Amino acid sequence: MMKTPADQRTICCDSCSLPAVSLDPLSGAHFCASHFNARFEDAVARTITESRMILPGDRVAVALSGGKDSTVLAVLLAKLHPDLRDSGLVAITVDEGIAGYREETVGSACKLCERLGIGHLVVSFGDRFGATLDAMVRESPKRACTICGVLRRTLLQQAAAEWGATKVATGHCLDDESETALMNCLSGAAGRISHAESGPGAGVPRIKPLRAMSEKDITLYALLNDIPIPRAECPYARTSLRAEVRGMMGYLEYRYPGTAAKVVEGYSGIAESLRRHRTPLPARRCTLCGQPSSGEHCQCCTILRMVGQGPEPGAPTKRSGQV
Ligand SMILES: [Zn+2]
Ligand SMILES: [Zn+2]
Repeated sequence: MMKTPADQRTICCDSCSLPAVSLDPLSGAHFCASHFNARFEDAVARTITESRMILPGDRVAVALSGGKDSTVLAVLLAKLHPDLRDSGLVAITVDEGIAGYREETVGSACKLCERLGIGHLVVSFGDRFGATLDAMVRESPKRACTICGVLRRTLLQQAAAEWGATKVATGHCLDDESETALMNCLSGAAGRISHAESGPGAGVPRIKPLRAMSEKDITLYALLNDIPIPRAECPYARTSLRAEVRGMMGYLEYRYPGTAAKVVEGYSGIAESLRRHRTPLPARRCTLCGQPSSGEHCQCCTILRMVGQGPEPGAPTKRSGQV
């Protein structure tokens, strides 16, 4: 059938007659703003329910960097789980000490929590580890993402445990998950594939309610719902392997829609299989800080010593109980 000029100007939602704002590249279906929103929220709610991520009585600490993904996550948790709002939901922002970047995102995280009416804790590398990330990596900025990743995870876990969280929710999306899967393969980190994030000694269990959502859809959801997206970009992100893997995955997803989901699905299957056949390591504790560790020193203490901030054996440590 010939299309009229009007048809060519406006593509409509497949479920109603309103203008479409989104195209699902896999099914070819178009969605208007309200059908896109409903579908997006349903998908996140389904991820949470199917994996039993949030159960009655849970206290959830959401890792709120102030970036797009974690901001959308905080908004959705408050919306989908109003029962958590009174005292079961808190946001934790880690200030790594990155000049020209963190100020804006911490500010927007504070405003968001006020708007949502949820508690907000800000914890910093400077207070906890004695130096900002900028100071730690002055000599070798290329190590920034590795150092930051470990220290941020440690600090987030500590703050969440002290608040009494039973779950830590992070804004990792489908793109992040597929990049991590590829990076672990590319760097030969086979051990990490079977790493049990929620096993005994791993701290407060982590949940990733956005893990099935693409970054593109998260961005669109933020735009359609007036959720502020800070423009600041971490100055260290460009120097990482992840940045290159992200470009590669973006190209593959464009050429072959659904690639990211398939990478994650395949990777999860391998990880699950490895976990089932893995012999549990004997329980050990870091000789410096006393936290559970697979070796003599935990990752956090190893990194802190590398950047000249680590405790000496037997020295008092701020690791436990102080944020
Ligand atoms: Zn519609
Ligand atoms: Zn340690």
